[in-house]
Amino acid sequence: MRTGLVGGTPIALLLALAVSVVCAAGQTRGAKTLDIYVVDVEGGNATLFVSPSGESMLIDSGNAGAAATRDAQRIIAAVKDAQLTRIDHVITTHWHGDHFGGMAELAARIPIGNFIDHGPNVQPAAAADEFLQKTYPQLYGKAKHTVARPGDRISVAGLDVLVVTSAGQTIKAALPGAGAANPYCASFKPGENNAEDPMSVGTHVTFGAFRTIHLGDLTKNKEFELMCPNNRIGTVDVLLGLHHGQDTSNADVLVHALRPRVAIMNNGTRKGGQPDVMKTLHASPGLEDLWQMHFSQLSGQEYTVPGMFIANVLDEPLSAMPIDPISAPQPGPNAPPAPVHNGAAYWIKVSAQADGSFTVTNGRNGFSKTYRR
Ligand SMILES: [Zn+2]
Ligand SMILES: [Zn+2]
Repeated sequence: MRTGLVGGTPIALLLALAVSVVCAAGQTRGAKTLDIYVVDVEGGNATLFVSPSGESMLIDSGNAGAAATRDAQRIIAAVKDAQLTRIDHVITTHWHGDHFGGMAELAARIPIGNFIDHGPNVQPAAAADEFLQKTYPQLYGKAKHTVARPGDRISVAGLDVLVVTSAGQTIKAALPGAGAANPYCASFKPGENNAEDPMSVGTHVTFGAFRTIHLGDLTKNKEFELMCPNNRIGTVDVLLGLHHGQDTSNADVLVHALRPRVAIMNNGTRKGGQPDVMKTLHASPGLEDLWQMHFSQLSGQEYTVPGMFIANVLDEPLSAMPIDPISAPQPGPNAPPAPVHNGAAYWIKVSAQADGSFTVTNGRNGFSKTYRR
């Protein structure tokens, strides 16, 4: 049957719908918001910033191996929603597979203008070393390559993007209006993890009166160096990343001193969201809401937020979240695999206004909340 129907809908109507969708998105750009998409890459990291100017910046590209195509496609879905035809900057916070893994697959799908990183890998790992020797130079050879240093600015028209940590170093001078003594430094408990996490490129983004920060997987000891004895950052509206909500990061010196109104945790089904981190977040002064990329077995019902603030479920959904959190199994070949989520994935989207107000939307259930000035 060739009657101009697709699934019973006249093609003319479909075209009209497509045009109206395009116009609606165009109006969103015209509304002059900074849009931030926190993409589900299963306990990795991929956060896309789209300035009202149309210039864009992606922090990290998801997981490596069999997951690379899936994660690149999930990032591209956000890129398309934002109507981008290129990504101006891709920051790789550090050389772990959950942060650079989807980069080659992504670069095969959309032009990238500038590849930014902290410099050489410092934690010997065959896959990362091979990527850096063979693949990465081919990617940035057709574009620009920048090794970030604290104090550098990344040029995104409409935003002020400042590198605050990189390669184990932090900014030395306080941001304008910041620099007061940090009362949480006195009770700091040191915490370290591995060689690469502390090298993370950390980025502070200002859009008018709106402020957000993403520190990659920066560990507690580096959080201390950045925030003590004086808080060089000040406060933020939205805290992004949180090292997937893992307890080797997220000290009070950082989280409580930044006083975020909203935190968005890029955790996985069994990665991040441990009780200690959830206690820190739930007790954070001024925090209005925590949003999570995933239901996490490490939180259990005891520590998690209501499901309306959680963007992703499992391929085989649980009928109920157990009350007790589980402990993460010891990593290794005998560890039981984490619950899988390869099906439809949803982002959490922040739309910020220059006056500092912002709206957060859960892509799964459409729940949306506006945080006024
Ligand atoms: Zn997922
Ligand atoms: Zn990570």
